[in-house]
Amino acid sequence: MKSSIIGFPRVGELRELKFATEKYFRQEITATELEVIGKELRNKHWQLLIDQGVDFIPSGDFSFFDTTLDTAVLLNIVPKKYQALQLSPLETYFALARGYQGESGDVKALAMKKWFNTNYHYMVPEIDDETELKLVGDKLFKECIEAKEAGVNTRPTILGPFTLLKLATYHGTKRAEDFYEAAITAYTQIVDQLKELGCQWVQIDEPALVLDLSQDEVQQFKQLYQKLLAQKGNLNVLVQTYFGDVRDIYKELVELPFDGIGLDFIEGRKTLSLLEEHGFPKDKILFAGVVNGKNIWKNNYQETLTLLEKLQSVGEIVLNTSCSLLHVPFTLANESLLEKKVVNHFAFAVEKLAELKDLKEIVADKEANRDLLDTNITLFAQDRFSKNGQVAQRVESLTEKDFIRLPTLGERASIQKDKLKLPILPTTTIGSFPQTKDVKQNRAKFKKDEITEAEYTAFNQEKIAECVAFQEEIGLDVLVHGEFERNDMVEYFGESLDGYLFTEKAWVQSYGTRCVKPPIIWGDISRFKPITVAYSKYAQTLTDKPMKGMLTGPVTILNWSFPREDISLRESTLQLALAIQEEVLDLEANGIKIIQIDEAALREKLPLRQTDWHTEYLDWAIPAFRLVHSKVQATTQIHTHMCYSEFADIIQDIDNMDADVISFEASRSNLEILDVLKAIDFQTQVGPGVYDIHSPRVPSVEELEVTIHNILNKLPIEKVWINPDCGLKTRGVSETEASLKNLVLAAKKVRGGV
Ligand code: GLN
Ligand code: ZN
Repeated sequence: MKSSIIGFPRVGELRELKFATEKYFRQEITATELEVIGKELRNKHWQLLIDQGVDFIPSGDFSFFDTTLDTAVLLNIVPKKYQALQLSPLETYFALARGYQGESGDVKALAMKKWFNTNYHYMVPEIDDETELKLVGDKLFKECIEAKEAGVNTRPTILGPFTLLKLATYHGTKRAEDFYEAAITAYTQIVDQLKELGCQWVQIDEPALVLDLSQDEVQQFKQLYQKLLAQKGNLNVLVQTYFGDVRDIYKELVELPFDGIGLDFIEGRKTLSLLEEHGFPKDKILFAGVVNGKNIWKNNYQETLTLLEKLQSVGEIVLNTSCSLLHVPFTLANESLLEKKVVNHFAFAVEKLAELKDLKEIVADKEANRDLLDTNITLFAQDRFSKNGQVAQRVESLTEKDFIRLPTLGERASIQKDKLKLPILPTTTIGSFPQTKDVKQNRAKFKKDEITEAEYTAFNQEKIAECVAFQEEIGLDVLVHGEFERNDMVEYFGESLDGYLFTEKAWVQSYGTRCVKPPIIWGDISRFKPITVAYSKYAQTLTDKPMKGMLTGPVTILNWSFPREDISLRESTLQLALAIQEEVLDLEANGIKIIQIDEAALREKLPLRQTDWHTEYLDWAIPAFRLVHSKVQATTQIHTHMCYSEFADIIQDIDNMDADVISFEASRSNLEILDVLKAIDFQTQVGPGVYDIHSPRVPSVEELEVTIHNILNKLPIEKVWINPDCGLKTRGVSETEASLKNLVLAAKKVRGGV
């Protein structure tokens, strides 16, 4: 059996590509110097793959920003306004990725969207009626030649036409179908060039096949590839899918004249049964995604071998990862703080290559490699010393009433109105205030033991006092403490929860040069000390106005961590919910009357297929949120916040979270969500963000008044809150202060006029 991977973390072991690219942006290195670093990384990574005995080595998975953008550029999908800048190819590429402002013009970046169900973001190709899809680029070929020169025979990989055209946005009257013919011509030219270069294989990624597909789409895919494959000659074509199973198109897919088909056996819950039911053609190679490309846990060899045995009837199998290794950190080698017995359970990208090698050797000769298998079996047989019987017990004994807050939302609204005595159209913010240099320095110094805890806290208290004074001065109604003590909305909570582990260098690319370092849920979760109480309580002593407590919700904490696999996501989330519930009750006991529980990432992990939305996710995610606040008194007002407004299709579920108030981003989406709220008679009070915090622009009072009136045209005034659309931590001080002043003035003016 041979082995293969779909892609490798191009950012480098220590994020070398990120730092080099940022230097280039700051004009500290030249384009040529950046290219050299790119080349070094590609060569280093190919060498790593060779050392680990990977048989199918990809090229073309490298990118200076995003591979979807690379494909768009390769195929001339570059809107006129970028071409008009007349920049060098690399500069045009970065103008698409990040926008451009300079002598040649002023253009915004392409939109960015989450890549399927990952935390990676791709650049959305923009197509209009003038777009001429044709092969114009050469990156794919150059990298292939470069590999050949280094003595490496690679399998070039490229995003396929079906997925590319499905993910693009269309500004004119033309749609994806209108570009199929051009795509066939362009991809045929690509195939021809690769043949000329002496490539044996090409990998065409079509992850869109794991989405819900209409019959029309299935037919379109079929026709597209019938034509394309008719021209492939002796080049072997692998169609690669990932992030799920291809249930809507399996039968058609295996009948097409592909030479290899890549299927995901990890996230593809139905992949095995599809194969068993419909068979797999003897003349094709199955690239079996059996090593998880998304998790950080070691592969269970015995389970993988059992799966492979079930596939015995397949002619030829290549061991593969379930998706590109882009989604996991580079290597465990740089983690010096984790205990050995913990690290033994982990596999990042480099270690996953070793797993492929082990598996290959075990399959080839089980007896000779008995020790490899036995070590792995022993590891999985061990108790992971991560269990906390009490926590499991608490989750076990939850009953329906633990998820129901009483009295009902409507009754609570009038009780809270009497108690809180807020004006109509109450004003507030989402929590964080600008994280200025001194704020970050204070945290860094404390972390490095350069200042004492008392000094650290005193600084934060001073900041809080300033922040509260400012909010009082401009007349906001519900105040916040400003979140100066927080590095990150998940890590900050994880640090006070048993069951969490943190890494040093385990970065994963999120978009472009931005990487995230998700913490790891290692064991049963419990809170070992109050987390936010001291600062919230202190802040409340500074004002008579309500001070809003500020927490991150269980679903968001889970979604921005690497989860456990020995228990269900539901169970981990309920454990988190119980821990945050303790925090909520502590805040309440300490005199905090309003508590916001952020669920910024709730929508992110919505399953790719609509049929799975409830059973696989919402049926436990929404109750987990309810559990967090079900025990508070009627007088305590619960807020939540979400970072996007694309939740029209799950709006009823959002209402069912049973928060008293929800705020969300809305200003950029032109308040379209308001119609949806109206249509379902949304019960929760809402604060649709009245201005965009992602831009330094200061909205005028008049403009904000118009926005508020637009909101009031759609929603009953007693249900409306006035706030920015997200936290202010990334903004500068002066624009923040000016914007908030205007926000309060606008609210006051509208109140006066109604
Ligand atoms: N309370 C957080 C803040 O204001 C919310 C951040 C978020 O929604 N991502 O920063
Ligand atoms: Zn937000």
